[in-house]
Amino acid sequence: PALQPSPESEAELAFEGALRPKSLGEFVGQPKVRGQLQLLLRAAAMQNRAPDHILLAGPPGLGKTTLAMIVAHESGRPLRMSSGPAIQHAGDLAAVLSSLVPGEVLFIDEIHRMARAAEEMLYLAMEDFRIDIMVGKGAGATSIPLDLAPFTLVGATTRSGMLPNPLRDRFGFTAHLEFYETDELQQVLERAAHLLELDIDPVALREIAGRSRGTPRIANRLLRRVRDYALVHGTNAGHDAVDAALELYDVDAVGLDRLDRAVMLAILERFDGGPVGLGTLAVSVGEEADTIESVVEPFLVRIGLLGRTPRGRIATHAAWQHFGVTPRAPQNALW
Ligand code: ADP
Repeated sequence: PALQPSPESEAELAFEGALRPKSLGEFVGQPKVRGQLQLLLRAAAMQNRAPDHILLAGPPGLGKTTLAMIVAHESGRPLRMSSGPAIQHAGDLAAVLSSLVPGEVLFIDEIHRMARAAEEMLYLAMEDFRIDIMVGKGAGATSIPLDLAPFTLVGATTRSGMLPNPLRDRFGFTAHLEFYETDELQQVLERAAHLLELDIDPVALREIAGRSRGTPRIANRLLRRVRDYALVHGTNAGHDAVDAALELYDVDAVGLDRLDRAVMLAILERFDGGPVGLGTLAVSVGEEADTIESVVEPFLVRIGLLGRTPRGRIATHAAWQHFGVTPRAPQNALW
């Protein structure tokens, strides 16, 4: 769907970069996580050491990359950015780790997608700032220990459940990012509108905030689409422009997009409200199970349309109502 995070176009990325808050003070919402990070960073600064390793968990677009940048910025340390999919061999990770400067913040996005062998190397690196490099093959293979500069690892994941325990345990702190409230998204949008020098009605900002899936990235993108709409149609960026632009991009009144609706309608209409297994559901909407689980479902659960049970996914009572579908009468009732 047009408003989901990937694939990223260059323009969208530049736009996101321009709107990224640079300090914890500018970071809207997530009061709990902000307080926790602040304490951690201050304690490290007072002891003049690298902050503990930090794991940021939560759905896409909630501010994980932004927080990693803030950690580096607020502690006055350089930042190195990498990602799980880019680390397919232990050697890829060794190359990154051995080139870090003392105190550097290493950000690994999608850390749950890193190769197994690299994961194991990371345990030792996180704990002792040391790695063992394997040289040679077969009987003649030896491992050479290599000391690393102390660093702070900031890992981000949409699937904290998929991280092996030994890795999860080595983070000093795990922040669970929550979906944002409408008020908070309105603040995100006010800030963005100000930075982009957009003349937009506060009522329209409120409307966009309420239809952004609790996600700052989506809020900022919808803002851009509304701005485009107002520009092209020569109208002001008010309530009507919001309605028209969001309809054009398939965003409904509560912020569900096309994929959200496809998933809910499949459960309701094809599986009579469930329970239906994740794999079956994924096939029936033609999406990857991983995307359904980490991108689509968390929000549907959060707004009370979908339930996850041990037997599979179910539609809630509210879902039948929201989509105006009536449950089919049981077909094989025995009389
Ligand atoms: P993630 O890494 O979790 O996918 P990002 O950190 O890339 O998310 O955030 C996506 C966009 O949303 C960024 O461009 C940033 O401008 C905006 N954003 C995220 N969180 C906040 C926040 N708390 N306050 C203001 N803007 C935010």
